[in-house]
Amino acid sequence: MPASPLSAPVSSGPINALTIDVEDYFQVSAFAPYIRRDEWDSRECRVERNVSRILALLAERDVKATFFTLGWIAERYPQLVRDIVAQGHELASHGYGHQRASDLDRAAFRDDVTRAKAILEELSGRPVRGYRAPSFSIGTANLWAFDTLAEAGYQYSSSIYPIKHDHYGMPDAPRFAFHLANGLLEVPVTTLRLGGRNLPSSGGGYFRLLPYAVSRWMIGKVNRDDDESAVFYFHPWEIDVGQPRVAGIDAKSRFRHYVNIGRMERRLQRLLADFRWGRMDQIFLGGGAASRPPTRAGAAHAAPTGPSAAAPARG
Ligand SMILES: [Zn+2]
Repeated sequence: MPASPLSAPVSSGPINALTIDVEDYFQVSAFAPYIRRDEWDSRECRVERNVSRILALLAERDVKATFFTLGWIAERYPQLVRDIVAQGHELASHGYGHQRASDLDRAAFRDDVTRAKAILEELSGRPVRGYRAPSFSIGTANLWAFDTLAEAGYQYSSSIYPIKHDHYGMPDAPRFAFHLANGLLEVPVTTLRLGGRNLPSSGGGYFRLLPYAVSRWMIGKVNRDDDESAVFYFHPWEIDVGQPRVAGIDAKSRFRHYVNIGRMERRLQRLLADFRWGRMDQIFLGGGAASRPPTRAGAAHAAPTGPSAAAPARG
C-alpha cells in the first residue's frame, strides 16, 4: 500500500457499479438465529425511510444505482419500488425471503427467485434482469443455482464473493465478470488481489470497519491496475443510526452489524464524489457508453459452467 492512499484524486477510470441490497435490519443473515421469520411483520420497519435517504444522496450527485430488492419488502412497500424506478435506477432481485441459496433445495430456490421476479416486475412494469443471492450464497456446492436463475429468466447474477469468509465465499472463483455456459453473466463483487490472496474491497461491513482512505485506495487500485469496474454494495440499514438495537446477539454479529454505522453516510458521500458510478445493467449488460463487456478481458476470466464445472479457473 502506498504511504498516502489519499495522494491521488480519482476522477477518471472505469465506471463502477453501485449496488444496494434492499432489506431491513432484522432480516440480515447474522440475526437469523435470534429473530424468527414470523416475527418480521411485528418489527419496526425502517427500510422505507432509509431508501428515501439513499435516493436523496444519489440524486445530489446524479448517480444511478442498482437496487437488489427483496420480494418481501416490495410487497409491503410498493411505493419504495416505484420511487426507485421513477428516479432512473435499476430494480433487481435479492430473492423473496432472504434465505441463503445454500440453505434451499432446487425447488425452493426456484420458487424464491421466481416469486421475487414476478412481484418486482408487476410493481415496476419493467423486466428484472439481475439477481443477488442473500449473503453471496452461491458457491462450489450449489452452482446449479445459476441454471435455475437462467431458467427463471434472469440475465445476470452478482452472487459470488471470491474470498474466504466464515459465512460465504468462493475464493477460487474468477474475480471479474464471466459468462456461464448457459449464457448467464456472473459479476462477482470486488476483491483486491494482494499477496496471493483476494481481499474484500466491495463494501458491506468491511467498508464501515476500514478507514475510508483504505477502501478508496482499494477501489482505485482495481480501476487502475486491473482496469476493471468495481462492484460496491451496502444496505439501507447501514446508514440508520436510529435503528432498534437487536438484543441478546453474539458479540461478533453485534460488532459486524453496528461498527461505524454513524460514519457510514458521510463515507458514502465521499465515495460518490471520489469515483464514477452507474447501474449494473448499463455497465455489464451493454447498450450504453458505460458498458464494459466481460469479454473485454478475454480468456483470463474463463468461467465455471454450472453444475458440470465445479472447479472454475482462477481469475
Ligand atoms: Zn441481503
